[in-house]
Amino acid sequence: MSKIQLKCELSYHNIHIMPYYKTKAFTLVSNRYMESDRIVTFFTYDSGKVPLIIKGVRRTKSHFGSVAEPFTQSTIMFYKSTPDKLGVVEQTEIAYSNSNIRETYIGMIVLGYIASLLDVCLESYSQDTGIYHLIEHLLFALGSKQDIEKSVMIFEWRLIAILGYRPEINKCHLCGSPLTENTYIDLKYPTVLYGQCCYQKTNSGIYTISSGSQKFLNNTLCAPLKETMRYRLMPSTRKTLRTAIRYMILYHIPYVQSKRSAYEKEIQRIYP
Ligand SMILES: [Zn+2]
Repeated sequence: MSKIQLKCELSYHNIHIMPYYKTKAFTLVSNRYMESDRIVTFFTYDSGKVPLIIKGVRRTKSHFGSVAEPFTQSTIMFYKSTPDKLGVVEQTEIAYSNSNIRETYIGMIVLGYIASLLDVCLESYSQDTGIYHLIEHLLFALGSKQDIEKSVMIFEWRLIAILGYRPEINKCHLCGSPLTENTYIDLKYPTVLYGQCCYQKTNSGIYTISSGSQKFLNNTLCAPLKETMRYRLMPSTRKTLRTAIRYMILYHIPYVQSKRSAYEKEIQRIYP
């Protein structure tokens, strides 16, 4: 994060030097704090997830505008008085409010779901430009009215891979043989795929992965991000991959289970 200037505060006995930071950021979630303030959690380009206080944002004439809305993209300037205290936003400059996405019901639900998912699964102050670009890609797809369900799934699978849980999709986890048309996923341990041999070794929670699903996964996880939207997705394939990624997220990010957001429940209702 670029430390752009130092703010000196002269008090009676000593001088505090406060570091200032400036970075591009997406708003994730926002909660009330004190009488008229908010704690807004941002996903910043330079430092990953960063929770910050915005003072006076709940007053009607606040100059911070839509910065508290999920996935508003802005340049923020903030200072931290001490490393262990929450930083305070001093200035924001909104680049894209993305309000056109939030205007539709499904757009609002998707943004709320992705924002709460990132808030739950990411550590604060851990930079990840891969996730930043993934967010940009999702917003472009949603803003240009592309296939929403597919856009969300690509986001979820790529996120899981970036977080270090990329599934092995080319060979059977048990015997190492190349995966063919008869491929299965065990939803109790949904991190790997199995070939035909798993039928003898495991007995429950097994889900068939079609060759179409395998090709989609391969494209989603291996192709450059901008090429991932091109792959067509059949209705049955969507259902399988939705089920698999849902189990994948719950398996690897158990917090999601205990902190299920209303948005996530609504996403499940819309895309069962
Ligand atoms: Zn096998």
